[in-house]
This record gives sequence, C-alpha cells and structure tokens, in this order.
Amino acid sequence: MSTHKESQTPGLKNRNSGLVFHALIFSILLFMQTGCATQLGQHPCAVDECFGQDIWQKAIDRIVAKNFPEEQYYGRVYSDRLNNAWTTHDTNVNISEDLLTKLILLGDPYLLSVSAHEIAHIRSDHYSRKASLSYVSSIGSQDTNPFTYREKRLKAVARVSRKHEIEADMLAVQYMEKAGYHREDYLNFLKWMKSNLKDAPHSDLATHPPIIERINRIKKLASFQ
Ligand SMILES: [Zn+2]
Repeated sequence: MSTHKESQTPGLKNRNSGLVFHALIFSILLFMQTGCATQLGQHPCAVDECFGQDIWQKAIDRIVAKNFPEEQYYGRVYSDRLNNAWTTHDTNVNISEDLLTKLILLGDPYLLSVSAHEIAHIRSDHYSRKASLSYVSSIGSQDTNPFTYREKRLKAVARVSRKHEIEADMLAVQYMEKAGYHREDYLNFLKWMKSNLKDAPHSDLATHPPIIERINRIKKLASFQ
C-alpha cells in the first residue's frame, strides 16, 4: 500500500515544457521505485521512540504465525507525517507512525490487514520484480525517441505495479482468513482507506489501482476458508 501523491500532468506548450514534464514524471516514478524512506529523509524509530512499535510487530507476528510460522518479518516504524506502509527487498515491514497510530485506534482487523498486504508484497518479491522491469530495457527498445521510450517504460512499470497491488490484496485476504479474520475485515480496511486517505487517480502512470477497483475485486473473491 502506498498513499503517495500521484503526478498531475502539466500542460505541454513547447518543447522545453515537454522536457520538464518528462523529467518530472521520470523523477516521480523513480522516487516511488527506489523506496520512499531514504528519499524523504524519514528516519526509523529507535527502540521505544515511537508509539505502537510493539503493537505493529505483534500484528505482523500474528499473520506470520498462522500462515508461514517458519518465517520471520520485522516491523519498522518510521517517524513522519505520511500515511504510508511499504516494503522493499528485505523482510522489514515498514509503516509510518502516523498511519500506525490511526490503525491502532481502528483496531486489530485494520492493523492485520495492512501487515498482511505488505507481507504479501515481500513474499511475492514485488519490489524486485518491479525494479528489474525499471532497469532492463525490454520495452520498445527500438524506439529512437528517448522520451517516448522512457514514457512507455514508465507506463509499463506502473501497469505491473497496479497488478502487484491486486495480487497483494488477494493474498492478504487469504492470510487474514487463516489468521481467523474474514474477507469483510479486509474490505472494511479498503473502505476506510477510500474514505480517509488520498486515492490514486485513474492514470496510465498510477502505481496503484483506484481503491474502488480493489474493493470490487475482493467482493468477487470466493472465500478461501
Ligand atoms: Zn501495496
């Protein structure tokens, strides 16, 4: 899950603004791909520095114990004001203190929904798959215009990222049900996000599908139990 702001397309009036536009889009996508934490200057909380660190680890442990007890994942809380949870290439399940505080107030089903979704990203190796697509020139390499080539590649990365979000949702429901919760609990979490957090706009460059699409996909799921 990520609630970063998506890009807005400025008007293209001349070649210079076109260059700026492409550079801007590229920078934003690169920023999203390379991990939010270091780019934003966030810092991980030291032991007992931030609210709810032990609660976050417990939420992660509950999903893990009922699904893959031989594995270990580590809750990392970051001190910042963004509402965000994310993973990269390791077994750290990262969350901002701000979002964690909200989830704690909402209750365990919300906490476990987010931890299940993020663990699904890690176990599916989504970060590496997206990163490799970003750097391997596999799309339209015959295109001689570097800007259209780059834009095509960014759109392809965003498309894969949206697919990963749906995959993570599906797995998260499965993990939740094994942990004794229900599909409705996960749906409630998505509905809360839709009402309270910034949604992704419909765009070829959006890294997340609109939340309503994610809700509808989960509604169509058969129970895993
Ligand atoms: Zn996600």
